[in-house]
This record gives sequence, C-alpha cells and structure tokens, in this order.
Amino acid sequence: MSKSLGLAIAKAKCPHCREGNLFPVAPFSYRKLSATNKHCEVCGVNLIPEPGFYDGAMYISYAFSVALVITSLVAVTVLVEEPELWMYLTTVVVLNIFLLPAMLRYSKTLYQYGVGKLKFRGF
Ligand SMILES: [Zn+2]
Repeated sequence: MSKSLGLAIAKAKCPHCREGNLFPVAPFSYRKLSATNKHCEVCGVNLIPEPGFYDGAMYISYAFSVALVITSLVAVTVLVEEPELWMYLTTVVVLNIFLLPAMLRYSKTLYQYGVGKLKFRGF
C-alpha cells in the first residue's frame, strides 16, 4: 500500500517512493537542523539534484514565519482580554523556537514536492 500524498508530506517522506525519509532525524527534532538526506535510503533516488537546491525553500520558510506571527497575534488578541505588547512578543518568540525545526523541515519538504522533479513511483 502506497501512502497518500498528504501523509507523505506530513511525515517528510521521499517524493519518489514515499517510504524513505527526507531527513536523518524526526521533523520536530532539534538535532541536525540543516541536515538533509542526499539519497533516499529506500529507493536510492538523488534527493539533492543540484548544490543549493533547497535555497528556494527559504521563501516557504519565510511564509511559514509570517503565518506564525499572524496566528500568534490573532490568538493573543482572541484569548487575552487586554493584551500587552510583551504578550505578543513572548508568544511569537516561544512559538518560533518551538516550531523552528518543523518549519525548516516542512519548508524543504514542500519545496521538494513542489519544485523537485521527482515523480511518485510506488512499489
Ligand atoms: Zn525514495
């Protein structure tokens, strides 16, 4: 049974086989933050087609950050009766630190799925 596209992205799997991992560690791990697997450990496909392939993922990462800030601002405004500036700042910073590994990895994952030339070939 091959995995669905959504599940494969959520689990940061190889776009080609949806079995191997794109990263050597779990998406939420703080270890090896910038590390990406060069080859899929299951189907062996080249996951970094050219040097700097993932540079474009920074734009997605940036979009994630903006979304995070907006979500934090809305959440604080809704949850706190008379919010003060430090509450906004704390929420943004804490969420950012908490979600940093996931944002970094999912921006690369989405980039790989959206821009990468790998087509899905299930077994
Ligand atoms: Zn693979």
